[in-house]
Amino acid sequence: MHSTTRVQLDLAALRHNYNQIKQIADSSKAYAVVKSDAYGHGLLRIAKGLHDADGFALIQMDDLRALRESGIWKPVLLLEGVMDASDLLDAAILKAEVVLRSEAQLQMIEKTSVALKQPLAIWLKVNTGMNRFGFPPAQIEEVMQRLASNSSVKLKGVMTHFACADDLDCEIEGQWRVFHEVVRRYQLPFTAANSAAILRDQRTHGEVVRAGSLIYGNNPFSQAMPVGYDFRPVMSLRSEIIGLSNLQKGDALGYGASFVADRPMLIGLVGCGYGDGYPYTAPTGTPVLVKGNLTRVVGKVAMNVMAVDLTEVGRVGLGDPVVLWGDHQLPISEVSKYSGVLSEALECGLTKRLPVCLIGEESIFA
Ligand SMILES: *Cc1c(COP(=O)(O)O)cnc(C)c1O
Repeated sequence: MHSTTRVQLDLAALRHNYNQIKQIADSSKAYAVVKSDAYGHGLLRIAKGLHDADGFALIQMDDLRALRESGIWKPVLLLEGVMDASDLLDAAILKAEVVLRSEAQLQMIEKTSVALKQPLAIWLKVNTGMNRFGFPPAQIEEVMQRLASNSSVKLKGVMTHFACADDLDCEIEGQWRVFHEVVRRYQLPFTAANSAAILRDQRTHGEVVRAGSLIYGNNPFSQAMPVGYDFRPVMSLRSEIIGLSNLQKGDALGYGASFVADRPMLIGLVGCGYGDGYPYTAPTGTPVLVKGNLTRVVGKVAMNVMAVDLTEVGRVGLGDPVVLWGDHQLPISEVSKYSGVLSEALECGLTKRLPVCLIGEESIFA
């Protein structure tokens, strides 16, 4: 069956990005963060594509189960721990490493752990200023003592998460100092760095780095990517020209007649819209690649169609290829900037109905 709009995933780029992280954090393990269906890329596709990763990090128990059921038994870190006792038992059976981030979770572990068949590996989360999850530094001593008296748990180390590592104008030194004081006092392995911190500050690498956006080739910073790094887009959103329309000066286009031609124009109709996950908020001017030529969206994005300006492109016909994002000429950050939707939100927002094609698979067996 012919499908106009599809997602292409470049597994060679994925492995390249992962290897870049391994080089930058060269004395740490790197867990690939695959929460939210691997940032919309597909959990099992990404996990299989990264078959030599040190481990994975995710949030949902079902995703842990899915990895184990498909035969992947690498370390998995449950980033927010578990929510109830039966998940706790499963997490131990499925050999997950579990974040402990609240008094409620600690009490649940104390009540349930006698039933554990094997020791539960725990990363104790310290709240260093994100102020969502984690124990305040002053409470760590007490929590450590309670864990030490429990033979069913094994403390792997301490963990924290930075509130604004992604903003290069915002310092992480304050949070780092608080965290490092805990690390120093207890002499424990630690995990602290997300993508932004991996690039920003080597001190934060520790035992395990947790790389999300970078493995998918996204810029983790709200500013431009610092020079000298080579991360490549894994996902591209592709479609094609399904219609052509000639506008005369003064002709309006599409719903709401929001766009009016100020000169004769050739318009291409692309078979993709917000019903596929392309952002409705992308305004006239948002860049698009048609047959390798950079041009722009015109008028309002509709459910399954959007219009692009072909006036200057020339020699374009029905069926010609369109890239909506995910090319070195058209990084997703551009679409993000125009539409006001975060790159990761664009990726997570694609409809699961879209067909996915994989390229670069040969690199997996090379
Ligand atoms: C999502 C997440 C990460 C990965 O963040 P990126 O910025 O995408 O690298 C790391 N740690 C925790 C706790 C997370 O929830």
